[in-house]
Formats: sequence, C-alpha cells, structure tokens
Amino acid sequence: MKALVVSEPSKFAIEDIPKPVAGENEVVARVRAVSICGTDAHLIAGHYPDFWPPSFPFTPGHEWAGELVEVSPGAAALGWHVGDRVCGTSHDACGFCQKCVEGRYNLCENYGNMDVHRQYGHNYQGCYAEYVLHGVKSIFRLPREMDFATGAVVDPASIALHTANRGGVRPGDTAVVFGPGPVGLLVADACRLRGAAHVIVVGRGQRLEQAAAMGNETIDFEATHPVPEILERTDGHGADVILDCAGVADTFQWSIPALRKGGRIAAVGIPVQRVDLDFQEFVLYEKELVGVRATAGEMRHVLPLVANGSIRAKDLITHRFSLDDFAEALATFNERRDGAMKVIVEP
Ligand SMILES: [Zn+2]
Ligand SMILES: [Zn+2]
Repeated sequence: MKALVVSEPSKFAIEDIPKPVAGENEVVARVRAVSICGTDAHLIAGHYPDFWPPSFPFTPGHEWAGELVEVSPGAAALGWHVGDRVCGTSHDACGFCQKCVEGRYNLCENYGNMDVHRQYGHNYQGCYAEYVLHGVKSIFRLPREMDFATGAVVDPASIALHTANRGGVRPGDTAVVFGPGPVGLLVADACRLRGAAHVIVVGRGQRLEQAAAMGNETIDFEATHPVPEILERTDGHGADVILDCAGVADTFQWSIPALRKGGRIAAVGIPVQRVDLDFQEFVLYEKELVGVRATAGEMRHVLPLVANGSIRAKDLITHRFSLDDFAEALATFNERRDGAMKVIVEP
C-alpha cells in the first residue's frame, strides 16, 4: 500500500509498505481523509527525539476517517462490520490499569508498553497511508450525514471538548482562550456549549480575524497587553477560566494575573521550554492549573456536536491534497498559506 514514510527528521517520501493485518479485537480501515495536526509537523521535524516516534522510519498521522475493510473475529463480536464508516483517535490504551479503569485511558499506566498499549501515529504506525490498523477502543462510528473530511477533525474536536471539561467552564463564566489555531477555535465553541457567557480569544493576525468571524470576542496581543485588557473587560476580577492552547511562556505568565480568584487554567498547548510561574498566586488565591492530554471519553460526546455544527470542525477545513502531494500539504499547513487551518490529505 502507499504510505508516507518519514526516514529521518524532515525527510520523507511516499513509499510502498506492507498493508497491516488485523489482530485480536482490531480492524483495518481504508483511510479516506487525514487532517494534519500540529503534532504531526513537530514529529516529522524530529522535535520529540526517541519518543514520538520511538525510531525512524515511521508513518505518522492520527486524525482520520475511513471505512472498515477487515474486521477481526473479536471486533466482529463487538459489533463492527466491513464497510462501517468510522473515525479514529490515537490512544489505544491497555484497558486494565487503574487509570484505564477510572476512565482516564489517556493517562494509561502502561503507556509505551507496546504489548498492551499503542498511540497510533505517535509510537505506532499512523494513518498517512491507504490503510491503517486500529484497535476497536479507538474507532467511532460516523453519523450518516458526516463526510470523511469532517470525520478526520473529530479527534481534535474531542480534545477541545476535553479541554473545556478539564477547565470546568460553568454557565455564565468568562472564558479566555489563548491561541486561535484550530484547537483554540474548537475550544472556544466547546466553552460556549458548556455555558460560557463570554468567550474571549487572544491572538493576532488572520487567525484572530477568523476567531472574530466565528463570533468570539477577541484581543490582539500585538495591539494591547492582554492582562489589563482582560481585567478591564471583567470589572477588574479576571477570567473565570483560561484555556491555554498556545503552550508558550508568555501565555502561561499572562494567565495567572488575568485569572479570577479561585479560577482555573487548563493547558493543552505542550510547552517545549520550562516556564517560571508565580506559585504564590495559586496558594493565596486558590487558583488552579490543570494539564490536558488528548481526550478521555469525549469522542462519542463530540460526534453529534460536530454533526450538528455546534462545534464547527467542518468550518475549519481550508485545504485538501492527495497523499502524493503530502509535501505541499505540509508546507501549506506549516506556513499557514492562504489562511490554512485544517489541511486534509486524502490517501
Ligand atoms: Zn492531533
Ligand atoms: Zn491502561
């Protein structure tokens, strides 16, 4: 089958590799659409050495939709059929450790033990290929009316819902989202669904314009310092919840003084550097900071919300390419050409 093979950091080609074969409780799907994720770009560039991927050559990709072409007897017993239209998510956790038993399979205590745990497109073959193998725990049935390209954006939408859930956004809250990339804009929608009265997106440029066009309040951090601006808009109290989708030192440092007493920061952007934070604020004002990793049960909840348009994943799709044109697709994504947000690759 045709697949994207990254042979070393930033070096890749479309090659012919063996088609996967389904094992116990696994399926093989014909991949119809893949959405490029920021993590793919970092992984291809070699930014997570010896971790994602554990070694090269490697086929990345984890946001996809397609149809089942092979269903193992175990998967059939669980109700799956050849021809089922599905979308995937990356964590295929052990299902038996205490974190899995608690439903927090994104924190599986057997992560990295390839006998019982896989993260597709991160430490196991991903979906930039004609076919992909998945365990049944990480596939979800597509609603009849949902096309494959939109289905490929369900995984990041589920991460957005997980972010808003971890932030504990409540009706009437003012929520501030740092970073108007695809995840940030999906998080903004998820905050509204949880009842936020005000959703303020902080960013700059074309992506911030997109945030405004989608009905968010905005702050351009190049025009005004976001901390006094957020305080001004909240009668001096600060935001109830801050959702950090940028993962850089500046946004973490802005978050603490811009947060209301007793407020919570939920961070989904992965910082690549250490960040100095004023912990006195957390102690004296009972502020909270929670991490957000992937998704933990939100896939089935987010599917109908993407289908009915209340989480606007489909609206973020700006470009489509064939797998043969992957280099151009990745460059379009990385350089944000023509306002690129979600770039779809169709193998
Ligand atoms: Zn992703
Ligand atoms: Zn586990």
